[in-house]
Amino acid sequence: MKPDYDLVVVGLGSAGIVAAEFAADLGLRVAAVEASRIGGDCLWTGCVPSKALLASARVAHHMRTANRYGIAPVEPDVDLVAVWQRIRTIQQEIAMTDDSPEHFRELGVELIFGRARLAGRTTVEVGDRRLETRYTLIATGSRPAVPELEGLADAGFVTSETIFELERPPRSVVVLGGGPIGVELAQGCRRLGISVTLLQRGARLLPRDEPELTSIVEQVLGDEGVDVRPGANVRSVSTGTGRKIVHAEIGGREDWFEAEEILVAAGRTPNLDGLGLAQLGIETTPRGVTVDPRLRTSVASIYAVGDVAGRYLFTHNAAHEAAIAVRDMFFPGSGKPADLVPWCTFTDPELASVGLTAAAAQERNGTQATRVWRRELARSDRARADGAVEGVIMLVTAKDKLVGAHVLAPGAGELIQELALAIRSGTKLRDLAGLVHVYPTMATSVQQLAGEAAYEYGRRWGRRLRIGRR
Ligand SMILES: Cc1cc2nc3c(=O)[nH]c(=O)nc-3n(C[C@H](O)[C@H](O)[C@H](O)COP(=O)(O)OP(=O)(O)OC[C@H]3O[C@@H](n4cnc5c(N)ncnc54)[C@H](O)[C@@H]3O)c2cc1C
Repeated sequence: MKPDYDLVVVGLGSAGIVAAEFAADLGLRVAAVEASRIGGDCLWTGCVPSKALLASARVAHHMRTANRYGIAPVEPDVDLVAVWQRIRTIQQEIAMTDDSPEHFRELGVELIFGRARLAGRTTVEVGDRRLETRYTLIATGSRPAVPELEGLADAGFVTSETIFELERPPRSVVVLGGGPIGVELAQGCRRLGISVTLLQRGARLLPRDEPELTSIVEQVLGDEGVDVRPGANVRSVSTGTGRKIVHAEIGGREDWFEAEEILVAAGRTPNLDGLGLAQLGIETTPRGVTVDPRLRTSVASIYAVGDVAGRYLFTHNAAHEAAIAVRDMFFPGSGKPADLVPWCTFTDPELASVGLTAAAAQERNGTQATRVWRRELARSDRARADGAVEGVIMLVTAKDKLVGAHVLAPGAGELIQELALAIRSGTKLRDLAGLVHVYPTMATSVQQLAGEAAYEYGRRWGRRLRIGRR
């Protein structure tokens, strides 16, 4: 018997949206099941609200530091309720346009609201409906992991899922976790006048990024008034005089930190509950659903992508994997998931990375073959003109091949694209340097650094590249 659908997408977040749109464009019969709101983590609790928060925070910061530009600085009168309202307005705009139910219906996607359970290899159940399908895509995302800490549940806390829904944002917060989410929200909140303590269990913030660059981020946060505490072993939480108190051991000493609110940003947990995967023999780990290089689970008609598959927890990766999975279902062998995924933490300055860190490159290629090239942003004419000289561009090469790039700069999330393409396409350093870049941009520094590296490698190219002033 012919199934009702070619594809049932479970979860309409970043991954599910792309999969449903793509499959509908191909003329396939598609149903999409969503337990909550179309848009998922990115729209409602992740990228969009955090970037909107950071935009307001940047304005406040510029007002406070305007003297650097010959303008009298002012302490901004921040209306936190209005900032939070602005975030919701932006979310609603997106929800009513790109992510609206009408948009999907016009594409021919059947929308089903409810919690899905995989009842068989080709059957998805939603309430009392049974959907028969050729393929199923699990795109149920992830949620904040909440550590088991004595007193935390009783004291109450917020996460990225709830902080943007607050009617009255807190005046002070202790952030648990120094990964990208904790760090972005810490800077955003601090710049908006909220008192912030950031407790990080590890020795440094943003452990997946280049240590030299993360230490500058830590310095910037500290200069802006975030109380950054690395190496913090949080023991318990208590309450007193209407405030929440986090008890931690740092460097062998007991300490405590008090605030109106606790923000838990201590990692992510895949959304697997109630999907019925174990009954189907689909393997999972604490990171998520186990998939093969084609993004198939151990049941070949069921794929898993995005956060729930636990590879790179970013919207762009979720969208990429979704497209690859749909291609693999209907045009087998026509693509595989990227193993080169750039990412960016949207602090100010932004910190973006792609490829290998210096340490990873040394481990893979040996210390002899690995070289690290760095250029301070202070040497960039554009950075000087913009008054934004805190930052470094780092290129990691193995022999004369670019294998990693790490950028701490305003707009690093944009700058990293060129470097990602260079790594993926095996672009020679001299070709990167030889590409005429617009002056004055931060990208001019990328070109100059590539020129330095190309010159050093064998001096084949003959002369140092001179674009703009050095
Ligand atoms: C504060 C914060 C900031 C972030 N900033 C960025 C950023 O700047 N850039 C970036 O790339 N990434 C960012 N991320 C990460 C990004 O949000 C996620 O990687 C991305 O949303 C994952 O997409 P997804 O489709 O896998 O899951 P999601 O977007 O979470 O979508 C999953 C969907 O599945 C639904 N669902 C779950 N279970 C079921 C079920 N049983 N039945 C039906 N539906 C179900 C959920 O309701 C949800 O709508 C951020 C995350 C956070 C928390």
